[in-house]
Amino acid sequence: MVRAIVGANWGDEGKGKITDMLAADSDIVVRFQGGSNAGHTIVNHYGKFALHLLPSGVFYDHTTSILGNGVALNIPFFIKELNSITEKGVPKPHILVSDRAQVLMPYHILLDQYEEERLGKASFGSTQSGIAPFFSDKYAKIGIQVSELFDEEVLKDKVEKAIVKKNVLMEHLYHKPLLDKDEILETLHEYRDLIAPYVADTALFIQEALKQGKTVLLEGQLGTLKDPDFGIYPMVTSSSPIAAYGAIGAGLAPYEIKDIITVVKAYSSAVGGGEFVSELHGAEADELRNRGGDGGEYGATTGRPRRVGWLDTVASRYGVRMQGATEVAFTVLDVLGYLDEIPVCTGYEIDGKVTEDFPVTVKLKKAKPVYEKLPGWKCDIRGIKKYEDLPENCRKYIEFAEKKIGVPITMISNGPGREDIIYRK
Ligand code: GDP
Repeated sequence: MVRAIVGANWGDEGKGKITDMLAADSDIVVRFQGGSNAGHTIVNHYGKFALHLLPSGVFYDHTTSILGNGVALNIPFFIKELNSITEKGVPKPHILVSDRAQVLMPYHILLDQYEEERLGKASFGSTQSGIAPFFSDKYAKIGIQVSELFDEEVLKDKVEKAIVKKNVLMEHLYHKPLLDKDEILETLHEYRDLIAPYVADTALFIQEALKQGKTVLLEGQLGTLKDPDFGIYPMVTSSSPIAAYGAIGAGLAPYEIKDIITVVKAYSSAVGGGEFVSELHGAEADELRNRGGDGGEYGATTGRPRRVGWLDTVASRYGVRMQGATEVAFTVLDVLGYLDEIPVCTGYEIDGKVTEDFPVTVKLKKAKPVYEKLPGWKCDIRGIKKYEDLPENCRKYIEFAEKKIGVPITMISNGPGREDIIYRK
């Protein structure tokens, strides 16, 4: 059985925590897209971790963690992250890396940095992890697959061809030092030796495991609104965080994905630029940001303050719909306990008309939020284990969100820890 955990919004919905929790019942956890550009925060009995590239199954001895073919593989980052968790006492996890994953090259990071520098104020707010140049090369067919690291002839030829193009940019667009073929090859030899113990035909591994009745968890990064097709293009990421892409980025049949748990945050937050209709500013934003998440809403990768706002059921309904959600996990609800009343954005006013359907970016730019206000519950709900024990106004908030979003909320997260979860039928 395959289950996916994905985000409905701009990312940072708390997918890491839900994945870490559900990985307990999974045999395999797979990252199917993205790279080291976003982070999951996980709190468990080993401590607090910010994972960027490793699947959230790495804390369990019984799971195999897989970096699928759809991932942007930053090899030194992978090794560093692996060491950082074992240094904190986590047993060495079982990890496999797809032989078809592509290698994030040092020049992808440079090009990402130089491009953001060149764009200045008009930049994408990229984490400068090289993700956009990586995926550009993948689809321009000049990327390097993990398997190619082990074929010297192919590798030399591909590096030679790639850097001809890169050096035109280095010289004429960015005015930066040129790339040196031998230096890159030397780095790639180091990468090859570092990654060798993990390389496998992971699609075959997953398909064989499914035949034996094993449970697979697909772990998404970011959320629907960052999808290159369905998100707030162009302020999106370069690979699809939609559950359907899990079939491709992991290498399994789409009909195997039976359960799509889509994570919706009880308020909104976003890192980086782009449209965000229910965004707050000033003191109200600062308060929500400082109370938000687990110790404030600051990016797990960059430490940047996240943009925050009220729950947006227009965006969340769309986010959930495009994921094909079978159930919703509603997270970080405990944070809202300080408010007398809680605004929820339930419509967008565009050119004088109110809509509940999330529009294309050109229209989104004109959207003004339409709010409904719900009464707050004014208490701390952490530690509560049963739905009936939640304050009435809190349940009303959940049920209001559920009705607007249109998919059952089956889990409510009321704290950052594994055990802070309320299951609901
Ligand atoms: P992800 O990328 O979707 O995994 O999200 P992040 O891990 O980057 O951000 C979620 C933040 O909220 C992290 O700091 C989590 O520890 C924290 N978190 C997750 N669930 C809850 C919750 O229910 N309540 C609180 N207060 N924090 C939570």
